[in-house]
Amino acid sequence: MGIIKDLGETYLAANYRRFPVAFVRGKGSRLFDEEGREYLDFCAGIAVCALGHAPEEVVRAIKEQAERLLHVSNLYWTEPQARLARVLVENSFAERVFFCNSGAEAVETALKLARRYAYLRSGPGKTRIVALENSFHGRTYGALSATGQPAYWEGFEPLVPDFMHVPANDTEALIQAVDERTCAVILEPILGEGGVIPLSREFLETARQACDRAGALLIFDEIQTGIGRTGRLFAYELYGVEPDILCLAKGLAGGLPLGAVLAREEVMAALTPGSHASTFGGNPVCCAAALAVLERVLSPGFLDEVRLKGEALRKGLQVLAEKFPEKVKGVRGVGLLLGLETHVSSSELMQALFSRGILTTAPKPDVLRLSPPLIIGYREIDALLGALKEILASL
Ligand SMILES: *Cc1c(COP(=O)(O)O)cnc(C)c1O
Repeated sequence: MGIIKDLGETYLAANYRRFPVAFVRGKGSRLFDEEGREYLDFCAGIAVCALGHAPEEVVRAIKEQAERLLHVSNLYWTEPQARLARVLVENSFAERVFFCNSGAEAVETALKLARRYAYLRSGPGKTRIVALENSFHGRTYGALSATGQPAYWEGFEPLVPDFMHVPANDTEALIQAVDERTCAVILEPILGEGGVIPLSREFLETARQACDRAGALLIFDEIQTGIGRTGRLFAYELYGVEPDILCLAKGLAGGLPLGAVLAREEVMAALTPGSHASTFGGNPVCCAAALAVLERVLSPGFLDEVRLKGEALRKGLQVLAEKFPEKVKGVRGVGLLLGLETHVSSSELMQALFSRGILTTAPKPDVLRLSPPLIIGYREIDALLGALKEILASL
């Protein structure tokens, strides 16, 4: 461990707290560092590497597309972009797709779309956006203003005006907050960075009704929960509540940067020519990768497997919670997006797992997050559970 870390520490912005490792290669659920040491990946690039590392069909799609066409801009049509939009529409509530390059950009687009839709229908003044406390929507100004964690705002204010935040799963507060000035409610069906906190069905149903009553749009940020992570293509399917606008990114292109915003025709029509754009958005290579990801995720049995493996992981974690009640509070989450609620420090757990060659994340001081590639194997799940058991016993 040396030269890569030295270079980075010398020349890169110091805005990340990084583990002391540089990865040079990956395959499936495994990563390899400079010295050839192997790691088991329960982070998956923060829920990005849906099919694991170097998945053959995605790599092939990228190579073939890269040899043909890298970029032409959105002044022209390209086949991967148009075909990907069709796949997303055919498998969702939506009728139209806008492509961008990241989660924050997808959120930014959704917020702009909601304000513009309200403006075109109701005139100026219907601009308020209601979001949740402890939510995470990204780091650009609009997305940051929606993010309900003041720690992320520090030093960056003033934020975008007319955002407000209510506690997650507090239906009364939500009903109070949404009125005729509201143009949108934005929420994550499962708060990811907030500590893997699923919203209740009642809360999502209330959000749907409150939006319908106020003529506001319901935005689901499924940047973390989308693309099979919960065992459904989209988490909203679990609740039976449809949004008006859906934000995707992370797992969408299996490791390449791609974001998408989905909406019904009538809503997306507010983005008239010239009103919004992205130079790289819907890049042919990223879209070709996403087509390969979705073909696999939508193949027969794939999502059933995700659900079964998610259940196996959850049960194993539950057993640990029962065995070590003074150290583990419980398990929450859905599919392969799970959080272990801890009494001990989650970052201490994460560090101990790291020193045993297992990658996890700790979004909160008392939550260890597990978001492995969707192709994780049962043996790998057992390896994580075994290591976690030993660590918990020794703490
Ligand atoms: C990661 C994430 C984002 C931000 O995505 P970036 O690609 O980092 O901009 C937004 N919302 C949710 C729910 C996320 O998990």
